[in-house]
Amino acid sequence: MGKSTKAPQIPIAHDGFALGGEMRTSDHAVQFYETDNFLVEALSRFIREGLDAGEACVVVAARAHRAPLEARMEAAQLDIASAQAYDDLIWLDVDETLARFMVNGMPQPRRFFEVIGGVIARAAMGGRHVRVFGEMVAELWWEGNQAAALRLEELWNELSDAVQPFSLCCAYPMDGFAGEGNLASFSEICDLHVRVIPTETYSALTDSDERLRTISLLQQKAHTLEVEIAERRAAEARLRASENRYRRLFEASTDGILLVDPDTSTVIDANPVMTDLLGYSYEQLIGQELWQIGLFTDQDAMVGMLRELEERHFFRQEALPLRTNDGERRYVEFVSNRFRANTHDVIQCNLRDITDRKRLEREIVTQAGQITATFEAITDGLLVFDARGHLIQMNPAARALLMLASHPLDYSLPVAGSSRFDVRDEQGRHLPFEAWPITRVLRGDVLAGAGAVDVIIRTLDGRERQLSITGAPALGEHNEVIGGVCIMHDVTERRHLEQQTHRALAALLQMAEALVQLPAADEFMAAPDQPPNEHLVVQQLATLTQAVVGCERAMFVTVDPQTKLIHPVASVGLSDAEKQEWHRVSSPYHLEDYLAAEPLARLRADEAVVMERAAVASDRRFSFTAGQALVVPIRLGEQLVGILSLEYDAVEHRYTPDEIEFAQAVAKLAALVLERDRLLHERASAEAQLLALQETNRLMNEFLGIASHELRTPLTVIRASVQLLDKSLRRLFDPAENGYTDPSIQRERVVTLTSRIDQQSRRQERLVNDLLDVSRIEAGRLELHLTSVDLAAVVRECVDEQRLLNEQRAISLTLPRDCDVVLVRADADRVGQVITNFLTNALKYSASDTPVSVSLALQGDRARVSVLDRGPGLSPETHGQIWDRFYRAPGIEVRSGSGVGLGLGLYISKTIVERLGGAIGVESAPGQGSTFWFTLPVAYQGV
Ligand code: ADP
Repeated sequence: MGKSTKAPQIPIAHDGFALGGEMRTSDHAVQFYETDNFLVEALSRFIREGLDAGEACVVVAARAHRAPLEARMEAAQLDIASAQAYDDLIWLDVDETLARFMVNGMPQPRRFFEVIGGVIARAAMGGRHVRVFGEMVAELWWEGNQAAALRLEELWNELSDAVQPFSLCCAYPMDGFAGEGNLASFSEICDLHVRVIPTETYSALTDSDERLRTISLLQQKAHTLEVEIAERRAAEARLRASENRYRRLFEASTDGILLVDPDTSTVIDANPVMTDLLGYSYEQLIGQELWQIGLFTDQDAMVGMLRELEERHFFRQEALPLRTNDGERRYVEFVSNRFRANTHDVIQCNLRDITDRKRLEREIVTQAGQITATFEAITDGLLVFDARGHLIQMNPAARALLMLASHPLDYSLPVAGSSRFDVRDEQGRHLPFEAWPITRVLRGDVLAGAGAVDVIIRTLDGRERQLSITGAPALGEHNEVIGGVCIMHDVTERRHLEQQTHRALAALLQMAEALVQLPAADEFMAAPDQPPNEHLVVQQLATLTQAVVGCERAMFVTVDPQTKLIHPVASVGLSDAEKQEWHRVSSPYHLEDYLAAEPLARLRADEAVVMERAAVASDRRFSFTAGQALVVPIRLGEQLVGILSLEYDAVEHRYTPDEIEFAQAVAKLAALVLERDRLLHERASAEAQLLALQETNRLMNEFLGIASHELRTPLTVIRASVQLLDKSLRRLFDPAENGYTDPSIQRERVVTLTSRIDQQSRRQERLVNDLLDVSRIEAGRLELHLTSVDLAAVVRECVDEQRLLNEQRAISLTLPRDCDVVLVRADADRVGQVITNFLTNALKYSASDTPVSVSLALQGDRARVSVLDRGPGLSPETHGQIWDRFYRAPGIEVRSGSGVGLGLGLYISKTIVERLGGAIGVESAPGQGSTFWFTLPVAYQGV
């Protein structure tokens, strides 16, 4: 037997037993067996045949096989003892022999050679052929040390080559190769042997046909097994894949998973999420009971859970509190079930961390609460509509704004024309339903920022509110409008204020404009010393103030800086009667007569004062309100120059700071207006005085011209007359001078001349008297000697005198019919002077052929003297001026008689009549003649 030759197929000995039959010299065979009986039988044959052939036998057998082998050999009449004594049979124990050369689980070659080589050499003594049976490889194989078994087979082969040839038979129990994994090593073992003998099942067959059939059967079996193996492998692969999948799921699950042994209640597996969740390492979790890792409050709670699980195979807790390793409290959704795996029950616990969800839920609940609270508390009105325009929610502010008492569901957008609300735009125009903000929102419009809509809504109780409305549609998943929200902001007050502010600004501008407009110059020139009673600009201020503040009355009063007397300047809102009353009570009084010291002091300190009706002096109507009056000072510098008072009729009206401020602003404007007017007025009167002075000078110059002429003319006439008179008298008394002139003619001339001298001297006397009178009047020294005077007698005397002087003129006289005597208390000469002045003027300025009528009439307690002429008449403008000194109406010529007037007569007459308590005047029109008249109070009238 040399070194085994490699065969592609497992070599099968067809002679049946390897251990039986002929063993070749260096044969190295392997016998597979199924039962120990067969092995013992075959081994006993192997030994016996060896001994019979004179060979030495070395048997390395397992201890278990030795006794049955010895018994079998004894039964076969073999003398074992003597065979052993002559080393024909060397018997070795497997375990002991292995122990002698095995080092660290592998056969040590040197020791093997020493031990086994030694035994072989002993057996071969005497040149005997040695046959060896060995079970050591089978023992190593059985132990699972297949590498050592294979190595030992090699060493046997090497030993055979190195020491001397011997035949060797190894035996392996077949069930040592059971299993697919042994297929390769089985082939390898076969390769290491020269002969391979199948087990007894095959060896027992002697018939070759039978053997072929068996081989076919085995081939079929092998094939079937191969297929089965493949299937099994596939199944195993599937199982592994499924296990892997499960494992992956287990590992990758976002839920924490624990596997628990129901018998011990301890954790047997946990996934990474679980360790993260609980804060324990994997090792810390394994072997722990659930309550020990923070899952249940105590052991009892856990046991309760396990009991329920056992009964129902399922346990679930919505929010199980747990405490992590570092003491944090968390909530998990806990689901547990029990199932059977192979032979054991397993509990699987799934834990889902819902701490965040729970916190979120709590937050949502809180937020929802906050939103509801906000919704309720918001001061703007909120309305929520569904897509069809039904009101589904409103907050208390909306309810209050719209005065809605009922449930929101009672309200929906109107079907055409049925609205319960009257909605108008900012200008008050009716807003059609299509243009309502909510209708627009439900059509998809967003009303925000500049797009906010101002509407005026008349609520169910009839109140009008101005609302600024914003809104937006609520959109569904596909951007469709599913409802709408409107927010209503009440701007009634604000708009009101805006309008009021607008009005106030406009008014102030108007006032400022009025202030910068200078009044027409003649407004002051006409009557510089008579300021208008109701001042126009201040009147305008009063009107504007009333319009802006909305009060019933506004009154301006000024205080004279010198006299401190108060003057009503302008008022608005007073009835005619109230106005009269106001003027009446104001004129001779001071502010102190109306206001108490305290409010007056405050006004002087530039403070506005609100006065109750009761605080106003009750006997004089200075205020016309039943409620309060706002009194604002008008000041120039530090001086109080007037007050503005504003009055509401509403008793409950309270003045707002805005109203007070506005009134103060108006008062300041009024102060400026008044001051400006005062300055303008001063300037105007200064100008007027200047003009008057100029006019006086002009008149004076004119007067001097006329006066000198008027005074000189009578003097010239008198001197010429005196010379002529001298001549006439000489001729009369000295005939030599007389010549041939008739003395009677001379006498006539003397009379005429003396009469002319008399006339001219009277005229001069009258002129001089007039001048004296004027100077007396100017000096305030015109003396009147009052006595009881019969006015009728005076009139008669004057008329008679003028009749004598103007014989050619028709002068009629009319006296009261029923009384001859009209007594007045007067200066008879001065009254006669007035009548004569009227008469001479009438004669002088009218044509000589026109009559002059004088009449005395009684009018109640007054006597009226009038002189009527048919002269040129006077234009109305001159009616006032003719009473002035030196005034002579332009275009009025002296028509009869002589002498130009000096313009003094009427001035003196007016002074006299007024001094006597009478009145004087003229009724005249151009071309209509004139009637000059005067009246005097009658002291007595009678027959
Ligand atoms: P006089 O000496 O100029 O008449 P008076 O004072 O008497 O002065 O009158 C003033 C002026 O009034 C006169 O210059 C004249 O122009 C006008 N006047 C007075 N009486 C008449 C009259 N009867 N008819 C028209 N003009 C008159």
